Amino acid sequence: MPKYEIKLTQKIEIAQNTMAFSFEKPTGFEYRAGQFADFTLINPPETDAEGNTRAFSFVTAPFADHIAVATRMRDTAFKRVLKNLPVGEKISIDGPMGDFKLHKTATTPAVFLIGGIGITPVRSIIAQATHEKLPHSITLLYANNLIPEAAFVNDFENLARENANFKFVPVMSNEKDYKGETGFINKEMVSRYISDFSKPIFYLSGPAGMVAAMRKLLTEANVNEDNIRTEEFSGY
Ligand SMILES: Cc1cc2nc3c(=O)[nH]c(=O)nc-3n(C[C@H](O)[C@H](O)[C@H](O)COP(=O)(O)OP(=O)(O)OC[C@H]3O[C@@H](n4cnc5c(N)ncnc54)[C@H](O)[C@@H]3O)c2cc1C
Repeated sequence: MPKYEIKLTQKIEIAQNTMAFSFEKPTGFEYRAGQFADFTLINPPETDAEGNTRAFSFVTAPFADHIAVATRMRDTAFKRVLKNLPVGEKISIDGPMGDFKLHKTATTPAVFLIGGIGITPVRSIIAQATHEKLPHSITLLYANNLIPEAAFVNDFENLARENANFKFVPVMSNEKDYKGETGFINKEMVSRYISDFSKPIFYLSGPAGMVAAMRKLLTEANVNEDNIRTEEFSGY
């Protein structure tokens, strides 16, 4: 697996407790939308039992001139060091890896059922599909507890304006007086946006609990196992 040392160019808070980190894209580094890499801290000032490496999906699309990742900031040694890493310092990456990617057959719709930080590879996939003007019908149900916790909502609203084949459905599970969808993603909610569960490829990504809940929903709706693709984030 190729290893690169890449320079941090920007770090910003993009939602409550959630930061995005941008890096220079190494010459010749190529990845497919939806892939991830292992990010390793170089000589960190502290470490803990989980070590100096975490897997992060690229939030940027391959056409972008830089690479970026986003993560929920928790009080672990890795994330304390990453948060304090000065712009201009380097981190080591190992990748790209992974097979979470948009299917090729354009007549088969894509439906993403996503919670919280599981959105990262999905942003890459939908930004790239929009850039390439792919004809796939894409529906994204994106659940967060509250509006301040929801990263990339503006990006998806812009992508939906740009891409007539993309429907964006934000879901705020615990937001009072929210005009859109509230509560957890369930079969009734999904049915409001897709008429036939047998047609699409379903994409699930994020913490294991979220992926398991969405898989159960789909299994109960008799969706064929072959039509479900998942990316499970360990460590949440
Ligand atoms: C293919 C893949 C792609 C991934 N992509 C992303 C991504 O794009 N963005 C992203 O954020 N993560 C992603 N992850 C997960 C990521 O690699 C880390 O595991 C995750 O961010 C947790 O790291 P951590 O340092 O917060 O906790 P760790 O130190 O890794 O946590 C270790 C253990 O401690 C527990 N723990 C630690 N802190 C807390 C806390 N505050 N509250 C409760 N429990 C706690 C965890 O549940 C876990 O069991 C991905 C994982 C995989 C496998």
